[in-house]
Amino acid sequence: MKVLVLNCGSSSLKYQLIDMETEGVLAKGLCERIGIDGSVLTHKVPGKDDYVVEKAMPNHEVAVKMVMDVLVDPDKGVISDTKEIAAVGHRVLHGGTVYSDSIVVNEDVKKVIKDCIPLGPLHNPANLMGIEACEAAMPGTPNVAVFDTAFGMGMEESAYLYAIPYKYYEKYGIRRYGFHGTSHKFVSGEIIKFANLPEGHRKVIVCHLGNGASISASIDGKCVDTSMGLTPLEGLIMGTRSGDVDPAVVQFLANNEKLTVDEVLNILNKESGILGLSEVSSDFRDVEKAEAEGNHKAAVANAAYRHRVIKYIGAYVAAMNGVDAIAFTAGVGENDASVRKLVCEGLSYLGVKIDDAKNNGPRGVAAQISTDDSAVKVYVYPTNEELAIARETLALVK
Ligand code: AMP
Repeated sequence: MKVLVLNCGSSSLKYQLIDMETEGVLAKGLCERIGIDGSVLTHKVPGKDDYVVEKAMPNHEVAVKMVMDVLVDPDKGVISDTKEIAAVGHRVLHGGTVYSDSIVVNEDVKKVIKDCIPLGPLHNPANLMGIEACEAAMPGTPNVAVFDTAFGMGMEESAYLYAIPYKYYEKYGIRRYGFHGTSHKFVSGEIIKFANLPEGHRKVIVCHLGNGASISASIDGKCVDTSMGLTPLEGLIMGTRSGDVDPAVVQFLANNEKLTVDEVLNILNKESGILGLSEVSSDFRDVEKAEAEGNHKAAVANAAYRHRVIKYIGAYVAAMNGVDAIAFTAGVGENDASVRKLVCEGLSYLGVKIDDAKNNGPRGVAAQISTDDSAVKVYVYPTNEELAIARETLALVK
């Protein structure tokens, strides 16, 4: 059985066709500049040269059609008929308070995705366009919505409510939702198996440290807390996002810089984080290089980033009254051994002991990086959101 996974942004579309027998990627690619001049599709098949098509893609429907065409192309394709695609799994940003799990798309589901546009104004419209484009291109093939917010629905009211007047939760659904849910669910579930955690000892903290970053606490795969909030702005310091700030900063900047609230939010989302503090880059490799060359702001940015991660881990140990395993994942978490080491050194009070040889081991593979006598085991576990979406999709349609 083959499952197509789609992740639609406002002007982009990423896809992967996965063979569910082997869970191997048959083909993957990216459509860029949808609706803008200079649209381009890049199609990759393992073991073959990339295939690039420069052709106008005025909307997502045309982009999906082009993806279908390339997948069945006798030369560049990997299937002979789109009927071989059993289902399409869509990454959908926001399911509001309605969906705590993935679901096969019907008109009601589409209405909820639409109703949640105020909560996910950039992503939900694109996600919906992707779904409707697939419905048009492959009538009868089921579409499954896999929500980034679903995992966070596991939180209790005490964890997800902001202490603002309750009426705003009732009126607008203002609460903490959490994002990167597909990754947190996948990695926490895989860690339980990989670390062979027995029942009753499944308190897991996942540090998803990528360009966007978030951290979750879960017991037996159920989310107890997660650091992103109403939007992905809350929580850890990220590439360009500030993470937690006193909300009064917004008022202060608006008044003193003569900015609107939207403009301040734009600064907090796009000009802050590692980029804003270091004034070097949003890419951790650049900031680490600058620190090594003696750049003070870069050093402070890196230290602040780790400080926040260590603080959140401590908070989540407290929220769960313990922890059995800690996992690092995503771009920084999977690749940056020095961040992992320095974070783990801040957890010595928990009895965490890092094994330097294991921590510096091969990249891209799941591994324990703590010593065998570490009181809490620490792991690197590569996230795979596409595979997670494909598995959820298969489970609902088979
Ligand atoms: P992601 O959002 O998960 O794709 O992560 C992307 C981020 O990972 C990039 O912005 C880099 O800052 C970071 N990254 C990737 N490789 C490395 C590395 N070897 N060392 C440090 N950071 C890395």
